[in-house]
Amino acid sequence: MRVFVILPAAGLGTRMSPGHATQAAPKQFLELAGTPILIHTLRAFAAVPEVSSIVVAVRATEMERLSAHVTEHGFAKRVRVVEGGDTRQESVSNALQALDCEAGDIVLVHDAVRPLIEPAVIRRVIEAVEKHGAAIVGLPALDTIKQVERTADGAIVTATIPREYIVQAQTPQGFRCGLLRKAFSEAEADGFVGTDEASVVERAGQQVFVVAGSPSNLKITQPGDLELAEFYLAQRQTAVLHS
Ligand code: C5P
Repeated sequence: MRVFVILPAAGLGTRMSPGHATQAAPKQFLELAGTPILIHTLRAFAAVPEVSSIVVAVRATEMERLSAHVTEHGFAKRVRVVEGGDTRQESVSNALQALDCEAGDIVLVHDAVRPLIEPAVIRRVIEAVEKHGAAIVGLPALDTIKQVERTADGAIVTATIPREYIVQAQTPQGFRCGLLRKAFSEAEADGFVGTDEASVVERAGQQVFVVAGSPSNLKITQPGDLELAEFYLAQRQTAVLHS
């Protein structure tokens, strides 16, 4: 059994820079402590010996820039760059087509913009997929969760969902390759587009298990997230110095 990783990184990052969809550096290339976010993410997965290869999906216009970063940081042997699509699902689908995985191999999909994923959590997902076939990282909800209806006057609460029933889905999300391919082709045939891979696999009737995540595995999405990531990174480095 081999472990493959897909990093969808073809988003435009418009929430990071509202009104500037064509910003010079999409958020995955913004620097965190002097290194592009995507390189931090690649390092985390490269640090897991079970991972045999990584495919990154980026916009056509970013392929050259990413390939240069990959070579510069010494990842050229284990990393391939492919073209992404208009939706995250399309980007993952393109990467999946580029993988030569067998049905029993494991595929982990991870947001390129979650650079602080810890190798120990990646390992936990791999173990859960070996056992159950499908697993994601999830964070218990701390806030009370409301279901709302959006109206012209604003949102109106329609229900309160007990928070013990809620986890916030993070990544990595891992699956047996055969299962992921089957679920993706069914979704494509039905015109279903999900916001994560688990939703595609759930609708194919597969149980998806949840592995505990951590708040530091944040998705760099909006202004302020980069500063928070820098804070977590500095805390981690201090912890290493004092260990
Ligand atoms: O849009 P969302 O927050 O779900 O983005 C999560 C990840 O999916 C990001 O790393 C982003 O670059 C990627 N993505 C992609 N192709 C798209 C849209 C998003 O690879 N068309």
